[in-house]
Amino acid sequence: MNIVDLRSDTVTQPTPEMRIAMAAAPVGDDVYGEDPTVNRLQEMAAARLGKEAGLFVPSGTMGNLVAVLAHCNRGDEVIMGTLAHTFLFEGGGISALGGVFPHTIPNQPDGTLSLEAIQSAIRPDDAHHPISRLVILENTQNRCGGVILSAEYTRQVGDLAHRKNLLLHIDGARIFNAAVGLGVDVKELVEPAESVTFCLSKGLCAPVGSVLVGSRDFIHKAHRIRKQLGGGMRQAGIIAAAGIYALENMIERLGEDHRRAKLLAKGLTGVEGLKVEIENPPSNMVFVQVSDEIKLPTAQIANKMAELGVKIGVTGSKRFRMVTHFWIEDEGIEHTVAAFKQVLADAV
Ligand SMILES: *Cc1c(COP(=O)(O)O)cnc(C)c1O
Repeated sequence: MNIVDLRSDTVTQPTPEMRIAMAAAPVGDDVYGEDPTVNRLQEMAAARLGKEAGLFVPSGTMGNLVAVLAHCNRGDEVIMGTLAHTFLFEGGGISALGGVFPHTIPNQPDGTLSLEAIQSAIRPDDAHHPISRLVILENTQNRCGGVILSAEYTRQVGDLAHRKNLLLHIDGARIFNAAVGLGVDVKELVEPAESVTFCLSKGLCAPVGSVLVGSRDFIHKAHRIRKQLGGGMRQAGIIAAAGIYALENMIERLGEDHRRAKLLAKGLTGVEGLKVEIENPPSNMVFVQVSDEIKLPTAQIANKMAELGVKIGVTGSKRFRMVTHFWIEDEGIEHTVAAFKQVLADAV
């Protein structure tokens, strides 16, 4: 049985061409700064995002953590959404390891943080308060449905932060999905930010890795922190080569994943017992809710879908997430819609 794995775009395996590039990569000891492939990836990433320098890190979680530790001192505060990945899914690392305080404000349904809410979250200069140091935006915003923050909105947040002497970090795990979805140059989306992380290991199909970009001084500091965290890798060119291949070949095609997400949302809109949260999803994610008349527990629906060869993500009671990616074809989308119909027809 061909498995349709829609749990996440992290399940993507490297393509055959990517494996060839990995095998052929010249390597060296990157802790000595001597891996030419890592150096090339870092330069390419920085150039692509319009920043001075880049740092290859093992994961997006480490990229965000390194960024926060480089920007903040102990006791400082970071403003982010209640649905931010850094708040929900990074093990509380910024607090556990950096003594940095998250100040969360609600994500609106479109993924944004309202400018008013950001403004009122920023603390006055008073010894009673922590020092507000950083704002984190997430683009695409995962938990809000893979929604895309515009360049204009990001600019407004950057202006507000900078006016108040705060910095802006963008958790751009899927920033290329955002750029392709909007049809804009990724540089425009991240221009106001001091730092950005993006993932190579999601829709871009590399097996491992993220890149953190920012100014030369910032990356110099971040490099030291990566070492402290145990993220200095040796002949990492083997995996960086997949990242280079991804930047060169896997970005423009993300539009296909977006097209298939729309196809999936459209197909599922016709399934009784399901409510599609965003009928015309902007990137590669489809979130659905199970209506109350379906008595079958959420986990069991997922199990029955898996028996039919479709893996889906359970993201709450009566809520599923499906993510399209390189290894999902149109037939997989059709099969998923058919499987949902079959499972839910038996479940009323
Ligand atoms: C996946 C993801 C990350 C980083 O995840 P890793 O698994 O550590 O690479 C960060 N932010 C967002 C929004 C993500 O979706």
